[in-house]
Amino acid sequence: MFKQDGTVEQDIDSAFDELGVTPDATEREVKAAWRRLVSQWHPDRNSSAAAVVKMQRLNRAFEAIRQAGFRQPGPSATTGGARPDDHATADRNASGPPSRTIQRRVRLTLEEAAFGCTRVLRGKVTEDCSACEGAGHRVLGGHCPQCHGSGATWQRPWFGWIATRAECDSCHGSGIARQVCAACGGNGKAATQRYKVTVRFPHGVRDGDLLSVDGRHGKPDSPPGDLSIRVEVRQHALLKLDQEGTVLCDLPVDGFMWIANRSVPVPTLDGLQSMQLQRDQLSYRLKGQGFPVERRGPRGDQIVTLSPIFPERMTTDQQILLDQLIATTSGPDAKSLDERLRGWNEALRAWKRGIRSRG
Ligand SMILES: [Zn+2]
Ligand SMILES: [Zn+2]
Repeated sequence: MFKQDGTVEQDIDSAFDELGVTPDATEREVKAAWRRLVSQWHPDRNSSAAAVVKMQRLNRAFEAIRQAGFRQPGPSATTGGARPDDHATADRNASGPPSRTIQRRVRLTLEEAAFGCTRVLRGKVTEDCSACEGAGHRVLGGHCPQCHGSGATWQRPWFGWIATRAECDSCHGSGIARQVCAACGGNGKAATQRYKVTVRFPHGVRDGDLLSVDGRHGKPDSPPGDLSIRVEVRQHALLKLDQEGTVLCDLPVDGFMWIANRSVPVPTLDGLQSMQLQRDQLSYRLKGQGFPVERRGPRGDQIVTLSPIFPERMTTDQQILLDQLIATTSGPDAKSLDERLRGWNEALRAWKRGIRSRG
């Protein structure tokens, strides 16, 4: 688990104990604990002989935890979502080899998600420098010659008499001698590597699905590891998807076309389709025209719900046409009056006669 240069001999558990934090402490918590203890035990504040020894122990503990790798905040070492699409960094776990999982987000249309699709993903990965494991330096051991192990230097301005305390440049406050990594020049990063990978999305992927893809295809531009791809499905302009895979469409139609049993174009995942309207029906089920019920599964249905729209105000021409229409069904010359209307009209007339004879 430790660097093999033999300088850090401290066991990692006692390092956490020394700083008074639990082994699952984040980088921030470790740094905060270390800073608090260092300011308490610093020889400038604490003149006891034990303080010098304590300082060295604190610095060694901090360095041991740092080299082992800080735990990432959050539930796991992988971080989702926040990263920009074209940028990914290889994750490092606190223990074991780097996981090298590249996080990506891919946005698909509802149709692409329904039928599956292929995408070429390009990106770049910057891995930690392998020579220093991302630390940017190599620990030499012993006291930092610059600050004599205190981690701080004092800067006295030429005109003033109050010296100010500053973190030591050469050990970054750790008090332990170190050497800048020659391989990465101290930034802890390897050269940025570009990759290209073709990813096949199966039909029926949903918004929020995570896909694991082995990116290593043996070509020079293949990704250095696996990809974890989060699927985002764009909202469709005309269709909605429910949990069961049913595609819902609210369809406004001309009310006259509805009562005329005309056909209207309906958007579906397969494109525009012609649908025959029924004047007594507002809801229509298109069998097997929906979204896959589950990933790689058969398709659900599409439900079309009509909203027949009639003009709020009729033109004179429309009024005349309507009058003519009414005359064919309810006027004195009406050829065929519906049974229900005829029965109702007769009952109405009988009722009126009854009122008159009683009055
Ligand atoms: Zn120093
Ligand atoms: Zn390096």
